[in-house]
Amino acid sequence: MIEFLAGFVTASIVLAATCWWRSHQRPSRRRAREAERWTILEHLLSNIPVAIYWKDEDSIYRGANERFLENAGFDRLNDLVGKSDHDLPWTNDEAHAYRRNDRIVLATEHPLLDLEETQLNASGEHLVLSSSRIPLRDARGKIRGILGIYSDVTERQRNQQLLLNYAFYDSLTGLPNRRLLRERLEQALGRMRRRKRDVALLFLDLDDFKRINDTLGHDAGDRLLVQVAQRLRGALRESDTVARHGGDEFNVLIDDVRSLADVQNVAIKLLDALRAPIRLDSHEILVTTSIGVTIAPKDGSDSESLLRNADIALYDAKACGGGRLRFFSTDMNERAKKRLEIENEVRRGLRNGEFRLDYQPLVDLASRRVEAVEALLRWDHPERGLVPPSEFIDIAEETGLIVPLGNWVLRRACEEILSRDDLGANGPRVAVNLSLRQFRDPDLLLVIRQTLEDCAIDPKRIELELTESAVMEDLEETLRILAELKALGITISIDDFGTGYSSLAQLKRLPVDTVKVDRTFVRDIPDDHEDLAITSAIIAMAHKMNLRVVAEGIETEAQLRFLEENGCDVGQGFFFSRGVPSDELRDTIERVLTVR
Ligand code: C2E
Ligand code: MG
Ligand code: MG
Repeated sequence: MIEFLAGFVTASIVLAATCWWRSHQRPSRRRAREAERWTILEHLLSNIPVAIYWKDEDSIYRGANERFLENAGFDRLNDLVGKSDHDLPWTNDEAHAYRRNDRIVLATEHPLLDLEETQLNASGEHLVLSSSRIPLRDARGKIRGILGIYSDVTERQRNQQLLLNYAFYDSLTGLPNRRLLRERLEQALGRMRRRKRDVALLFLDLDDFKRINDTLGHDAGDRLLVQVAQRLRGALRESDTVARHGGDEFNVLIDDVRSLADVQNVAIKLLDALRAPIRLDSHEILVTTSIGVTIAPKDGSDSESLLRNADIALYDAKACGGGRLRFFSTDMNERAKKRLEIENEVRRGLRNGEFRLDYQPLVDLASRRVEAVEALLRWDHPERGLVPPSEFIDIAEETGLIVPLGNWVLRRACEEILSRDDLGANGPRVAVNLSLRQFRDPDLLLVIRQTLEDCAIDPKRIELELTESAVMEDLEETLRILAELKALGITISIDDFGTGYSSLAQLKRLPVDTVKVDRTFVRDIPDDHEDLAITSAIIAMAHKMNLRVVAEGIETEAQLRFLEENGCDVGQGFFFSRGVPSDELRDTIERVLTVR
């Protein structure tokens, strides 16, 4: 709109100014008529929403419209005429800049269009102008002065700046966002090629931030992030970029790296900056961060691969327990590739029905009755054949894929075993392994309830196996979830017991029904005296706490005898049966009854 108006107005003004020029240069007979035209134009000039002025060859003001006079702080045109920019309210620098642009127009005899200029006006406002200057010629075509026209684009620019901020800065911390980081990284890589200096990219992820967020609330979590951002910024040089990647992840870009020691020092500074506790309301919070580092051009020379490598190194730092710094290496890359490959394959496998379940009996030692069967996940990989759970469960856990995979296991086990009535009137329970991630999944109860309902199954026939480390991680939270599971009527057992650091005394607080003594203790029975002692002690203590005891991994008669003598309730292992497909289960259950 302004541009259109400006075009229209410029044409009129050139005409008006030319008239004015002539009327002052040459008394003529047509003067009266010209004066009349001038009045019309004067009216036009006073009413258009842009400022207009004209100056002579010495940049002395000769005329202007109302809008301009207002900016310059004059009521009457006569007060302006004869003055230069240095007599007007603009700053000295602005006056110089205007003069410089005037000279360019006079010297080149060409207009200067759409310049961005600033103006301190008479009301003390700092304006941003979109300004044009056009040479004014007399009847013979000789340059006599300059016609200027500008509009105030301050507001528009402010909005553009806001938009720019919105697009390139994180609104919570005010730090550059991922997009701006990427842009700066590209620029740094460009400079690196010219200067032959390295560039380092750090990837930071706060340890345990989720817990802080969950316990103190998102609002407190946000305030914590703001303080972390300030500390990180404060630990760096002005020329380094610290950006918020998202969530509790930050990136630091160090341009102009001389040596690895430089980078290491910066990283240590960052770790140190977070060392002092952060105060949030009445809480003092200790925050640590893990840092992954990648160096260009050694580890990669484009922003994409550098970000990926830094993330891989970060992953390694996290896996080592957090609060650590790791430099990227190529074998990390190999591991990461493998992880990614398996992740994608698990996804595909789930879609294509490559997973199935085997069921291993849990045998009541007194009666030899199969009281439960443990569902064990099997992956029939189209190229690699049978892939054992040890090769994919951990990765599925890390990537979160275990949640859909585990939900599938539960549903499948219910359908395959619990919906059958050929396994005896009191058919076996189904024991399903639950990983930590699944256990903490907010939808866990919903999924279990839905599955039980869909398959019309009594919750008493479901047993969930949780590892010791999963239940011990956050006891209060564990208690809450277990109470709800128990309320449904589900049996809970602690898998691989004895491999973690918990004691039976700690377990006492939890509504648990069974402990499964880990295979490693059973393995060396009856030769290893220590294992004999531990196993019998676990059995005795568990019984005092009214827990049933399952021994896993029974392979020999000698192991079975020892366990029976020590009062173990339930046995599981190859001695009775391996895991078998559901259609072999009926025969297996009958055969186990006869094992003595
Ligand atoms: P786990 O829950 O302790 O399962 C018992 C493992 O011991 C099974 O290995 C089973 O085949 C093996 N085993 C049983 N008896 C014997 C024996 O007498 N001798 C020996 N040497 N091994 C025996 P598998 O099937 O390879 O599973 C390994 C682990 O993978 C399981 O340990 C469990 O932690 C995990 N897993 C399996 N299926 C699932 C699942 O559906 N979900 C989750 N989250 N984890 C699963
Ligand atoms: Mg298990
Ligand atoms: Mg186990």
